[in-house]
Amino acid sequence: MNKQLFKVLVQLFLFVGLSSANAQYAANQYGLKVINSVAHYKKTVEADAQHALVKIQDYVPNIMLDIKYATSQNVFYTQLYKIPAAFVRLPVAKALASVQEDLNKQGLSLKIYDAYRPYSVTCRMFEMLPDTIYMGLPWQGSRHNRGIALDLTLVDLKTKQELRMPTPFDALVYASHPEFMQLPAKIIENRELLKAVMQKHGFKVDPVEWWHYNYVSATTFELLDIPFEALE
Ligand SMILES: [Zn+2]
Repeated sequence: MNKQLFKVLVQLFLFVGLSSANAQYAANQYGLKVINSVAHYKKTVEADAQHALVKIQDYVPNIMLDIKYATSQNVFYTQLYKIPAAFVRLPVAKALASVQEDLNKQGLSLKIYDAYRPYSVTCRMFEMLPDTIYMGLPWQGSRHNRGIALDLTLVDLKTKQELRMPTPFDALVYASHPEFMQLPAKIIENRELLKAVMQKHGFKVDPVEWWHYNYVSATTFELLDIPFEALE
């Protein structure tokens, strides 16, 4: 083999190698990188165990789930998940356990409406309801897609009833804004109680949705598009 041919072959091998690595993680039509294979997701967990998506119930005792998008009782009148499940990244689950511990001492519990959400579901939601104030934007991706956001409320442990909050979940109205004050004192008190305990453990409320919290202590986690069934 002459030297020139050898050089060309080496370059070709390098090119093919790099292309296959990038193919696993190509940007989508919005220029976003979204992990959509279980094998790729597992590699990120092998590299850093903090990336693991875990079931919230495995880390947070007596937490309640009411996964609205696994039913058609939601703002889209459409079932978006095949099964009800609540996954978050490992450090988020640990922080939620601390929140629940504080709440249990007060006779209260968290109830989860939504947690990790596959990226393609965010895109589908935006197609059905193209609202740029309340909806996760396909060209940005939602923190739900990164496994670091939660939609939740408070429940009385004795009665199993939800505490009164300013609006139902996913009410796309001004009263959903966490700064909205034209409300009965008890409702404001409930909303502020939730905010205080979540903030204490590293979460920050969304500026337009009292029920949405981001785990702000988290480092950057990738956007994911892996269905619940594949994580089970
Ligand atoms: Zn949310």
